[in-house]
Amino acid sequence: MIRALLTIDDIASRNTPAIIDYLQDKQIPVLMFAWGENVERYHDEAIYALKNGAVIGNHSYTHPHFSEISFDQCVKEIEKCESVLDGLYSEAGVERRCRPFRFPYGDKGGDKKELLQKYLADHGFSKVDDTGITYPWWKAEGLDKDIDTFWTFDFMEYNIRPGSGFTLDNVFERMHNLNPQSGAALFEDDGCHLLLLHAHDETEELVPMYYSKILDELIAKEVVFEKPAFL
Ligand SMILES: [Zn+2]
Repeated sequence: MIRALLTIDDIASRNTPAIIDYLQDKQIPVLMFAWGENVERYHDEAIYALKNGAVIGNHSYTHPHFSEISFDQCVKEIEKCESVLDGLYSEAGVERRCRPFRFPYGDKGGDKKELLQKYLADHGFSKVDDTGITYPWWKAEGLDKDIDTFWTFDFMEYNIRPGSGFTLDNVFERMHNLNPQSGAALFEDDGCHLLLLHAHDETEELVPMYYSKILDELIAKEVVFEKPAFL
């Protein structure tokens, strides 16, 4: 059996409600990571996600590389997104039970890494339950200790852009590769995954409903989708 927690980054977007409708139809729970500016821009879409079962975590306010800004700027990015999310949960009338965080680009802050992990721990951020993830590299890279939410498999569908030469076929090739250069093989037996997908209207324009094309393949492989849980 392959188990997976689906995470979707960079919400909100025009296609967020359609993604939510698809996930509800397929009964796939989701942990979404909000880009604060996008939540302000696509406010109704973000409210729709919250009211329809998505758990929403913090993905910073302007989505910078944390290794390229000061520690104080990092904290401001996190705090500003927190306040946007507090307002969103309150307006939606949904209780905020957890505070997961994901670094933009998975950039953990370079030489500020330890400082940022301590900040997340000291300020009540939630560590996603990763106890089912047994890949040796997960522990070797210290990901089992980090408070932020990393991933085991990145669909990389955000590379589908005009002129990039990267297509949905390339996404499928990666999904079926049993010997990936990094991360875990998606369809290896007894896998346990944190899946990374994005809510991007730019991808939607080139591949309408890309998320359903990708996730239908996981459903066909009988992947069991788990609810977000925290330690
Ligand atoms: Zn992102």
